[in-house]
Amino acid sequence: MPDRIKKIGVLTSGGDSPGMNAALRSVVRTCAYHNIICVGIYRGYQGMIEGDFKEMNARSVNNIINKGGTILKSARSTEFRTREGREKAYDNLKAEGIDAFVVIGGDGSFTGAMIFSEEYSFPVMGIPGTIDNDIFGTNFTLGFDTALNTVVDAIDKIRDTASSHNRLFFVEVMGRDVGHIALNAGVGAGAEEILIPEEDLGLERLLDSLKRSKRSGKSSSIVVVAEGDKIGKNVFELKEYVEENLLDYDVRVSVLGHMQRGGTPSCFDRVLASRMGVKAVESIIEGSTNYMVGVIDDKMVLTPLEKAIKGHTKIDVELLRVSDIMTT
Ligand code: ATP
Repeated sequence: MPDRIKKIGVLTSGGDSPGMNAALRSVVRTCAYHNIICVGIYRGYQGMIEGDFKEMNARSVNNIINKGGTILKSARSTEFRTREGREKAYDNLKAEGIDAFVVIGGDGSFTGAMIFSEEYSFPVMGIPGTIDNDIFGTNFTLGFDTALNTVVDAIDKIRDTASSHNRLFFVEVMGRDVGHIALNAGVGAGAEEILIPEEDLGLERLLDSLKRSKRSGKSSSIVVVAEGDKIGKNVFELKEYVEENLLDYDVRVSVLGHMQRGGTPSCFDRVLASRMGVKAVESIIEGSTNYMVGVIDDKMVLTPLEKAIKGHTKIDVELLRVSDIMTT
């Protein structure tokens, strides 16, 4: 760690998420506030390897707090996974006089940062940017809240069609390993059933639940399915299964896909991004390295990158119970 940090690099890496621009703005302005030069590193680690750098000042990040995606662009870099690739990246950072970097991304991006930091004793700090909310060490990742609002909005619209035609809709949402989006958006949108990777509801119980719902007078239903649901069938196979077993059902599927990653960040994500950027830069100034910033019980905290990568987030069992009660 140099005696005094004079120049900090910042990059966005992996899949984009709403709030990345707001976090970039916060990092750049916190650097300006502390008289530190900030350098934008374009296209993630690939840009670091190719020296795609541009100095940024407080005015470079005007009018981006409300923008989805990332103005720095993001990329996946296979070259950074190699020792040679990381060496090129290090040479470029040194040539530019960069003393530390902040990476806004997911656990893959943090793994890259950790390996790099250990190889070159280079100070790094992570900001969790992913809609999945699957990173240990923070109650919320950047983009999760916006994605929930996007999903709820989409389901509200689908429900209009579902209720006009007495249809059952399976709505697939993102979440290969974790069901945070499905559970929260499912409760928020009033779904009749929520299928998540953490819980195997079983096909029989799904059918029972749908029959019960119909008996209780509901003419249409929404079932939210996380991509990685454990029920053993994908969303299209589920549709076929239900149609074969419940003959009087008109079943449709809607896969929300990439629309969940886009859009204007919510106020919550903008505020979170602003807080995370300040915490990231000030932690580097104070001499911390190899951490991820997060928010736990509304306090800004640091978690070692290794723990953030290896730890697992847990589904909120209380919310699971609320969802069960709501489907009565
Ligand atoms: P998302 O949540 O969208 O998956 P992520 O940050 O996990 O975001 P990854 O594609 O897994 O996305 O990782 C982003 C980049 O981090 C990779 O393209 C690669 O450059 C770097 N990276 C990931 N794993 C490693 C590793 N083991 N060693 C070096 N670099 C890595």
